[in-house]
Amino acid sequence: MAIDLVTRREWGARQPRGAYGRLSSTRGVKVHYTGGQVSPDIVGDHARCVALVRSIQNHHMDGNGWIDVGYSLLVCPHRKVFEGRGPNHLPAANGSGLNSGHYAVLGLVGSTGFTQPTDDILHGILDAVEYLRDKGGAGDEIKGHRDGYSTDCPGGPLYAWVKRGAPRPGGGTNPPEPHPSFPGRVLKYPPVMVGEDVRTWQRQMRTRGWDIDVDGLYGEASRDACRAFQREKGLSATGAVNRATWQATWEEPVT
Ligand SMILES: [Zn+2]
Ligand SMILES: [Zn+2]
Repeated sequence: MAIDLVTRREWGARQPRGAYGRLSSTRGVKVHYTGGQVSPDIVGDHARCVALVRSIQNHHMDGNGWIDVGYSLLVCPHRKVFEGRGPNHLPAANGSGLNSGHYAVLGLVGSTGFTQPTDDILHGILDAVEYLRDKGGAGDEIKGHRDGYSTDCPGGPLYAWVKRGAPRPGGGTNPPEPHPSFPGRVLKYPPVMVGEDVRTWQRQMRTRGWDIDVDGLYGEASRDACRAFQREKGLSATGAVNRATWQATWEEPVT
């Protein structure tokens, strides 16, 4: 499912008071919670989510004196992702000195009232993480605010989920095995591409039974194997390993 973004205009965000610091990439994302009381009524009434996000922005700008809401993205129980500072902008919520390392994603979960993250909020957080990977160069890490900073955030239940590796909920009886995440560049030929990501993909293809050298060089043979694999799986036969092909190399059953 594609990300369900709520734009700043849609949630009535105030304009930032200054320019954001720029980020071209991060090691990953830190997960936060609202803390305090979040009414369980929020689950039945998205208007309450909008009001809560606006109050968080007001608190960050008027209480903390920040130029804007501190989070990169904010996620509500309706699997909607509110634009905060967005990708490529320095967040403010991780703590001094820790903002350039990770984007900051908030789940609207309290420490009283609405405290147990629902499947939709977990999916929404992962939608946000994938969006930051695609648009903002976020790396593989998913951590909690409390990692490296003295705080309860993101609360017990969300943190336990982070520590389990932040899995998609309800992955059915056979959730896909964790596998190396897409390297962020498309592997293609010509010219020959060189790298550990190429080697990782080749090794997996070999494991699947393809006759392919694991040499870290993406040349003609890799391209042809890729194209044949894509045809077999009904993917567009480009001979280039994009995100979908990379994932299929691990997630599709071997036939
Ligand atoms: Zn936090
Ligand atoms: Zn909502």
